[in-house]
Amino acid sequence: MAENNVGLPTPAGYFPLDDARLRVWLSGLPSLAAHVGGDAAHWRIDEVGDGNLNLVFLVRGTVGGVCVKQSLPYVRAVGESWPMPLERAFFEHQHNQIAGPYLAGLIPQTFHYDSTLYASVMELLSPHLILRQGLIAGRRYPHAATAVAEFVARSAVLTSPLAQPFEQVFDQTAIFSRNHALTRVTAELIFADPFEHLPRNRWTSPELDQDAADIRNDANLRAAVARLGHRFLTQKEALLHGDLHTGSVMVTEADTRVIDPEFAVYGPVGFDVGVFIANLLMAFFAQPGHASAADSRQTHAAWILAQAGAFWRHFAQRYDALWQENGGGDAWPARLFTTPAQRDAFARARRERLREIYSDALGFAGAEIIRRILGFAHNQDFEAIADPLRRADAERRSLTLARALLLTPSPFADMDAVLQHAQRLAVPIADEATA
Ligand code: ADP
Ligand code: MG
Repeated sequence: MAENNVGLPTPAGYFPLDDARLRVWLSGLPSLAAHVGGDAAHWRIDEVGDGNLNLVFLVRGTVGGVCVKQSLPYVRAVGESWPMPLERAFFEHQHNQIAGPYLAGLIPQTFHYDSTLYASVMELLSPHLILRQGLIAGRRYPHAATAVAEFVARSAVLTSPLAQPFEQVFDQTAIFSRNHALTRVTAELIFADPFEHLPRNRWTSPELDQDAADIRNDANLRAAVARLGHRFLTQKEALLHGDLHTGSVMVTEADTRVIDPEFAVYGPVGFDVGVFIANLLMAFFAQPGHASAADSRQTHAAWILAQAGAFWRHFAQRYDALWQENGGGDAWPARLFTTPAQRDAFARARRERLREIYSDALGFAGAEIIRRILGFAHNQDFEAIADPLRRADAERRSLTLARALLLTPSPFADMDAVLQHAQRLAVPIADEATA
């Protein structure tokens, strides 16, 4: 361990990149520099790490460019007072190694990983935009929901013992079981923090003070979220992305890529499904806050809600199909289900399994919404609404849905019922008296 020029101890050889060091370092890797092209002194380098955790550089030259992502030994959004091990870059890299082969075209290609600098060099996604920003700006991406559903379905089946020998799955599970730091972030920020008085929590105050207190004081809700936290930590069903919100997806009209799998861990499939749906639901409820005189955003809101339905349908259909096509693993061995009666039993079991994922997903969606409104990490969808009254209104409607999603037994027979309920909860204030 050495001190380098960050205040925290880091392994020998580690240094945080900056503009000048990045030019030198990349130039020393000719095959990578070739992706950029031209004289390193003339490269355009932008540091865009608008995320919470890492340094992200976009490097452009005469040929094209690359994206360089490096871990810092602390949480970037907070500073050195919240140390965070560098290894998150290693787990992001491992996700690329282990799930990447199944996800071609759905993630950026990784060109290089440096285990000393905890940095990876990947394909520059351009002119892609973060999906969340696109949704806030009122743009449509017709293929995004199904592409993300494809990402989740492939990960869920192909990294699991449905498709792989258990020895391989156990070894992979062991690798990601070491992703302690970011799994702790999930365990605390989602499954505990919103129910505690903590300085790192915040919400639109004073508007939501009573809502936050009501949620903290609801013992049944607390138990529902704790139960899901238990499932998250114990149900090692498949390799999760672990942080699949709309800020982890980059899009153009034609192309969709999932980025930032540093939270990767084996867990319940419904977690990724639920987190993504939750973020679409929050984008939906936030729309009136982005309305202008020219655009009420009603059409856009309806389109976003429909994307949550498209996401779930594509996921369910592909999970089922991929399971049947790749059922060569040790779980549900395909050789045991060959006669018509056996195949019927297998089809029933697949439907039950999807029901289980659905039910988990609704709960995880509820927990994700609550923590994004009352916890540490908030969403731009709401944060970009300057007027606190309008922001609180959108957030309160989201919290109302979140509580319904966490009720057991679920009042929602299927995803369409969830979306219809969301639509009812979104009735504009002026219309409520007449609705
Ligand atoms: P963090 O984990 O620190 O939040 P992300 O992986 O989410 O980092 O990246 C932060 C930002 O960098 C993204 O929001 C996006 O704007 C940009 N970015 C990340 N990867 C790429 C890429 N491959 N190409 C272009 N931009 C990227
Ligand atoms: Mg991240």
